Amino acid sequence: MDFKKYITVVEDWPKEGVKFKDITTLMDNGPAYKAAVDEIVKYAEDKQIDIVVGPEARGFIVGCPVSYALEIGFAPVRKEGKLPREVVKVDYGLEYGKDVLTIHKDAIKPGQRVLITDDLLATGGTIEATIKLVEELGGIVVGCAFLIELSYLNGRDKLNGYDVLTLMKY
Ligand code: IMP
Repeated sequence: MDFKKYITVVEDWPKEGVKFKDITTLMDNGPAYKAAVDEIVKYAEDKQIDIVVGPEARGFIVGCPVSYALEIGFAPVRKEGKLPREVVKVDYGLEYGKDVLTIHKDAIKPGQRVLITDDLLATGGTIEATIKLVEELGGIVVGCAFLIELSYLNGRDKLNGYDVLTLMKY
């Protein structure tokens, strides 16, 4: 399927010069959303994945239907202060300043095979931080799946040695 025709490119949002890739126009088309999820499920099927992990909020949109299809769990990665029980956390760089991502300490058991999902790979900072959390808990990252890759931001450089699937490249 030509997924790009379902993505809306919004010029100068959230600030001038940015061409924001809006995935909501893919999500609100049932067959397109299902086809995108199905591609990731197909990619994941032979990897013997135990659990899917995704950062808030768009990582949930991609990862939860994948975990449902594979009949395995989903563990959310959230900003600091959102998860109610004991967490591990990691600082990560944003374009301006820093932020913190967290995951419940018991979300992943040592040795579990993990698929990480998000909507979009840009600089790779978010996924790198998510990988750190998974590995700190002893999880093995066996794949990273995204709808979109912004190739010109070289996020893949941070994913050397990891298996990566992206459905669309800009
Ligand atoms: P990175 O950490 O620089 O790779 O940025 C990836 C994160 O920023 C993802 O979690 C995305 O949801 C978000 N993001 C960055 N640019 C866009 C965009 O154009 N559309 C949708 N999400 C974006």
